[in-house]
Amino acid sequence: MSFRSLGLKEPILRGVLAAGYETPTDIQAHAIPKILAGLELIGLGQTGSGKTAAFGLPMLDRLCGGEPGLRGLIVVPTRELCVQVAENLRVYASQAGLHVCTAFGGVDMSIQESAFKRGCDVVVACPGRLIDHLERRNLSLEKVQMVVLDEADRMLDMGFMPQIRRIFVRLPQERQNLLFSATMPEEVEGLVKDFL
Ligand code: AMP
Repeated sequence: MSFRSLGLKEPILRGVLAAGYETPTDIQAHAIPKILAGLELIGLGQTGSGKTAAFGLPMLDRLCGGEPGLRGLIVVPTRELCVQVAENLRVYASQAGLHVCTAFGGVDMSIQESAFKRGCDVVVACPGRLIDHLERRNLSLEKVQMVVLDEADRMLDMGFMPQIRRIFVRLPQERQNLLFSATMPEEVEGLVKDFL
């Protein structure tokens, strides 16, 4: 099994090379072709399984070659994860001309705002800070085509459900939803029913 055989485009394969990956992990081999085909998906995978590339590579692949602008949204529960996911995606996107921005609390909003203005195809965001940017009209979600809820179980544990609802009402109806979670308790199943 190779990344090429999963159907990824050349610029994204060059990003995989830049990341130094040779063989897809299990979750990547399963998820990438399905996401490329436009399916919605629930991924069960912990940190270490390679889940970031499992959603990040096909997301960038589907956005590659399209009109620039914010088209991919990844919602994560913590700042640390936000930084880590964005770092990985920037490597995957490095040969595809796509720009990845972050939105997380604890840093000046204006720094993030100027990054959005320079151009942003994918934003990796924590719920609270994303809502702040949306309310200030620093960002618009109206062209978003793909959404990932990463570590959905942790997001619910941390009480982010009301914020997630507020974000989702601002998204276009027509979109591809992906949900990744380490565990699948009843609450996450509720989220799946509501959003996928
Ligand atoms: P994640 O589960 O997405 O947090 O990834 C865990 C670690 O594995 C990160 O350091 C990734 O860069 C790395 N990784 C992800 N996919 C692969 C792969 N196919 N081959 C080698 N390393 C990988």
